[in-house]
Amino acid sequence: MRLGVHVPIAGGLLEAVERAKRLACSTMQIFSRSPRGGPSVPIPRELAQQFDRERRDAGIDPLAIHGPYIINLASPDPAMWRQSLRLYREEYVRAATLKAQYLVTHVGSHKGSGEQAGAAKVADALTQTLRGIDETVMVLLENTAGSGQGLGYQFEQLAAIRDQVNGKERVGICLDTAHLFAAGYPIHTAEGLEQTLAAFDRTLGFAHLKLIHLNDSHVPFDARVDRHWHIGKGHIGLEAFGRIVNHPKLKNLPFILETPKSTARPGSRESRAGDAEDRRNLAVVKKLVRSVHPSRRSRAHVS
Ligand SMILES: [Zn+2]
Ligand SMILES: [Zn+2]
Repeated sequence: MRLGVHVPIAGGLLEAVERAKRLACSTMQIFSRSPRGGPSVPIPRELAQQFDRERRDAGIDPLAIHGPYIINLASPDPAMWRQSLRLYREEYVRAATLKAQYLVTHVGSHKGSGEQAGAAKVADALTQTLRGIDETVMVLLENTAGSGQGLGYQFEQLAAIRDQVNGKERVGICLDTAHLFAAGYPIHTAEGLEQTLAAFDRTLGFAHLKLIHLNDSHVPFDARVDRHWHIGKGHIGLEAFGRIVNHPKLKNLPFILETPKSTARPGSRESRAGDAEDRRNLAVVKKLVRSVHPSRRSRAHVS
C-alpha cells in the first residue's frame, strides 16, 4: 500500500521531504503556501528541482498539493469568484512547478445561491484553469463533511461539477473518510461501506477515484462537522478502518493521513512537532493491512 501523511511546510519544502522520509512515507501531501491566506512566496526553480529529486529518490510518490482554504470557486460574488480563480490558477501552476500529480481541491460554498449555481461556478473556474494551463497535474475534488452551505458532501454534487468541466479528463476525486462519515455515508459498518462504494461507482465511477484521505472522526455519524481524529480512536473505529484499507476497490490507492498533530513545545524543534502522533497513526494503519509482509522481496518490489 502507498501510505503517507500531510506534512507541514513551516520548515520549508526540503524539510518536509526529510520529515516524510523520517516517517517512512511512500506518498505525501503538502500545502504549497499558507492555507489561510497571505501572499505566496515564489518557488525558485532550483528549489523545486531539488525537492522533486529528493522526493523521488525516497520513493515518495504520488505527491499531492492541498489547495488553500481561502479559495471559494463556488462564490456567487463576482469579485470574490475572480479572486478565487486567480489564486486557484496560481496554485495549479505551483503544483506543476513542484511536479505534483494531484491538486486536492475543496469545491467551496455557494453562500445561499443554491447548489446548482454553485456547481456551475466551480465547473467554470476549473474549465478556465485547465484550458489556460498546459500541465498534467490532476485536479482532485474532495468530498466535504456537509457543514453550512458547503458543496461536495454528496457524490451527486461532485459528479455534477465534474460533468460540467470542459477538460474533465484532468479532474478526479479524493475521498476523505472523516468527511464521508460526517456527511452521512455509513462507512463504519461493513454493509454501509459496500453501499457507499456502490453509490460512488454509480455516480462518479471508480476509475476517477485517485486518493484517500484516511482520518477518523471526532464527531458522530452524520454530524455534518469536519473534525479529524486519530485512526481507531474516533467514531469510525478501528474495525471499520481494517475494512477500508483492505477493501479490494481501495487498497491500491494512495492513503494520506490528516490526523491531528501537536504543536511544538517551547525549546523543541518546530519541525519535529507532531512526529510522534503521525508515527503512531501510521503504525496503527500498517498493522491493519493484511497483506504486508516485510520480506526482502516485497521491499524490493516497492522501490
Ligand atoms: Zn481537504
Ligand atoms: Zn481531507
